[in-house]
Amino acid sequence: MSDYDKPLPTLTDENRPFWESCKAGRLSFQKCSACGHLRYPISPFCPQCLSAEYAWTPVSGRGTVFSYVVFHQAYHPGFKGDLPYNVALVQLEEGPRMYGNVVGVAHDAVRIGHAVEAVFDPVTPEITIPRFRPAR
Ligand SMILES: [Zn+2]
Repeated sequence: MSDYDKPLPTLTDENRPFWESCKAGRLSFQKCSACGHLRYPISPFCPQCLSAEYAWTPVSGRGTVFSYVVFHQAYHPGFKGDLPYNVALVQLEEGPRMYGNVVGVAHDAVRIGHAVEAVFDPVTPEITIPRFRPAR
């Protein structure tokens, strides 16, 4: 039994490949087989062309901070011990934007435009959460 006390995703047939990829240490997204659009969040249809066909495709995990906030209040008891902490919206090189914590720096040292890369934090035997650190 894990002592991880924050919310966890529910694995489904649709999202399981994303989480398995994170567990293997890389980000993967659905790439539309019809138009090539990389889609995130995970969805059954392409938001660009409505095709249901796709293939899971690994991406670099590199990007830049598009925006960020620093939380000073816990909206779930599991996060209370982490205060204050940052949540960034990262513009990935391949197109999608995703939320994640920037780790390896002070919570208030994150800035828009900082180059970051994905790192992978195994929080339970099943779930590895992607986060970001300053790019090397
Ligand atoms: Zn498409």
